Amino acid sequence: MGRDGHPLLRGGRRETGFSHGFSADQIQSLAAMCETLVPPLSPDSIGDGSPRNEAVYSFFRASGSQHPIPDEVAEHMVKRGQRRAVFVVSLVLKILSYRLGTLLLCGFLCLDWRWPFIHKFHEMPLERREMVLNRWSRQKTLVPLKVAFAMVKLICLFVFFSWTDENSKNPSWEAIGYEVDTREKPVKSKRERPLEKGIIETMYESSSSLLQSLAGKGLKVTESSETNICNIKCDAVIIGSGCGGGVAAAVLAQSGQKVVVLEKGDYFTPQDYSSLEGPSLNQMYESGGQLSTVDGKFMILAGSTVGGGSAVNWSASIKTPSSLLHEWSVDHKIPLFGSSEYLSAMDAVCKRIGVTENCTEESFQNQILRKGCLNLALHVETIPRNSPETHYCGSCCYGCRMGEKRGTDCTWLVDAVEHGAVILTGCKADRLIVETSDDEKVGRRCSGVIATVSSRDFSKKLRIEAKVTISACGSLLTPPLLISSGLKNPNIGTNLHIHPVLLVWGYFPENSTGYRGRVFEGGIITSLHKVVSEDSSEEQAVIETTSLGPGAFASLFPWVSGADLKNRMVKYPRTAHLFALVRDQGSGVVKEEGAIGYWLSQLDKEKLKLGLRQALRILIAAGAIEVGTYRSDGQRIKCRGAKQKDIEEFLDSITTPGGLGSTQEHWTVYCSAHQMGSCRMGPSEEAGAVDENGESWEARGLFVCDGSVLPTAVGVNPMITIQSTAYCISKRIAESLRKEKFPRVG
Ligand SMILES: Cc1cc2nc3c(=O)[nH]c(=O)nc-3n(C[C@H](O)[C@H](O)[C@H](O)COP(=O)(O)OP(=O)(O)OC[C@H]3O[C@@H](n4cnc5c(N)ncnc54)[C@H](O)[C@@H]3O)c2cc1C
Repeated sequence: MGRDGHPLLRGGRRETGFSHGFSADQIQSLAAMCETLVPPLSPDSIGDGSPRNEAVYSFFRASGSQHPIPDEVAEHMVKRGQRRAVFVVSLVLKILSYRLGTLLLCGFLCLDWRWPFIHKFHEMPLERREMVLNRWSRQKTLVPLKVAFAMVKLICLFVFFSWTDENSKNPSWEAIGYEVDTREKPVKSKRERPLEKGIIETMYESSSSLLQSLAGKGLKVTESSETNICNIKCDAVIIGSGCGGGVAAAVLAQSGQKVVVLEKGDYFTPQDYSSLEGPSLNQMYESGGQLSTVDGKFMILAGSTVGGGSAVNWSASIKTPSSLLHEWSVDHKIPLFGSSEYLSAMDAVCKRIGVTENCTEESFQNQILRKGCLNLALHVETIPRNSPETHYCGSCCYGCRMGEKRGTDCTWLVDAVEHGAVILTGCKADRLIVETSDDEKVGRRCSGVIATVSSRDFSKKLRIEAKVTISACGSLLTPPLLISSGLKNPNIGTNLHIHPVLLVWGYFPENSTGYRGRVFEGGIITSLHKVVSEDSSEEQAVIETTSLGPGAFASLFPWVSGADLKNRMVKYPRTAHLFALVRDQGSGVVKEEGAIGYWLSQLDKEKLKLGLRQALRILIAAGAIEVGTYRSDGQRIKCRGAKQKDIEEFLDSITTPGGLGSTQEHWTVYCSAHQMGSCRMGPSEEAGAVDENGESWEARGLFVCDGSVLPTAVGVNPMITIQSTAYCISKRIAESLRKEKFPRVG
């Protein structure tokens, strides 16, 4: 047993009661749905090829209605779900608690010859309830029923397979062959945490100690007793500590500026990480890893912790493609991207985050991607990573316990605090201070930010005044901050690119193939295949491997029956996943926090389809005995012994279905872990939200320094591009500050 980890990242029963507000009737209906999704089954339901042992028998007997699953599901839903969808679910649950309501939603399936003739949902036999859920999943007209099914399924299966007891164990893990990574690097002596010098963790502060801590870190702090606002003065305030914010903090602090970084997430170190899927997603991801577009079509992953996405990402470190640099500098008229300044920035970034080119031992999934490509004579590339070549860790997505991945939390932010920067965690920027300047030529100016610190024991407003203010909240949160501060440029919050992703899977039983390892072990992304069109050799999609913990796998995988789910889960360790990702031409909108709209273009759909087919071919060529997609009906084919004609027919049947809200029978869940472009750079205020220096066209002294400034989608994993762009922007800001182009504060 390894170390326990940070209390926030440990498993265990909740300390406080449930606050979901669902009535006992609603919970009864919800428990009946959970039981239908994860039903108690006899050993007869264990399929061929599944192991038979006591752990598996016990898993098959287990039910989704067991305490505390239904209450946890309700809690998650209310806390994290899209408000409209939560309303739909709570209404459906209420209706199901009445006989006539059940008749309305379930039809004749709830009827019986015996008194009382109509059953409530929870009184219906399990197999009938299963038929009901299947019917709802296929709904073309009563789409809210499909939404209710999908939301409960998504959350119930996530909770069931990620929930842990006080010993950080989940009762199903042994049966499904899952083990939490408890490896750790031996720590010779108790060393100071990397950001200790500059970090102020507000969860450990009180109202009065916070002021002392700020002053103790060399900041000018005053408090107005009438307003209870704490006033802080510094040279540069940076909102967000991720890829963009981390780099900006280092560059500006190193240039002699007093920097304050505000981060709404918390600070964790390798000693804190537990590798537990549930608490890690809950604490370190935006919306606890359950963020979706408003229509529920896309699940969106973004980091929210010190280090932002770089603390939880999969370490693929790919330089900006030269064709893209040409496009951005020439077609988008942003000379920066055609300059040697940008090329040197990429070198500086790769050096600082320790990018290595090779991987000594590839993971199970990457071996499969590589072998499948080799067997098909397709080109496969090795992906550089910001970790050592020997790095073999499948849980970097929950923070790297080995401390080998070099996110901004252990690189750029360390440089920043070494040079006097202060990082405030649990501190959320509410709005920017944008004023009309006395100097008409200057127009509007940004002189800082108003933020809130809210910990369990106190809440406090901060007014941070600075010569320059940098928004580095990421592409989903920078636009809402700018808009709520009164900025009007129409490019803010539009042009959101998300690199849409669809998954496919292939099953490789332990004894039948030569691949080592299990799906949750080893480097997450180390190889890549680019899909090109046959006629023009134009790039259509990239294929990479993914990380899916048991909770994420169960919740996203198509549910067709309880028995299928359980049999699929015992195959989890040897079910490889590939994804197709496209450089999207379509785009979305995000103007309000959490209200993300995105529309997939026809061209992107076509490219995704080609990518999916190619990914399936690769899995088949690598020796999968069964492959499938994530379409709601569980589209799949057994490959062993299948005729080539059947396989071709299967591949021809692969399309890109609509999302949850579609009126088609089959639907799927799309994913995104890369968001870009929602405050793009442009040569004029008509073409962009910020100029080539990252400065707002509307308010002087306000800069954007994150993925949102990128003019278009990148087409490959964007971390290096974001950090390099941030490096150039912040170098230029440092130069302007050196020349005193911005007014003094205080
Ligand atoms: C699971 C996952 C895997 C990925 N894998 C890879 C990969 O292998 N390679 C790659 O190149 N890219 C990868 N990415 C993408 C990459 O990590 C992101 O593109 C990158 O982190 C975005 O940088 P950013 O500066 O725009 O925002 P982020 O890094 O997301 O940082 C934004 C920060 O701002 C904070 N914040 C937001 N609003 C406020 C506010 N109002 N007040 C205070 N703080 C705020 C957030 O909490 C967050 O910490 C991955 C992303 C995820 C989520």
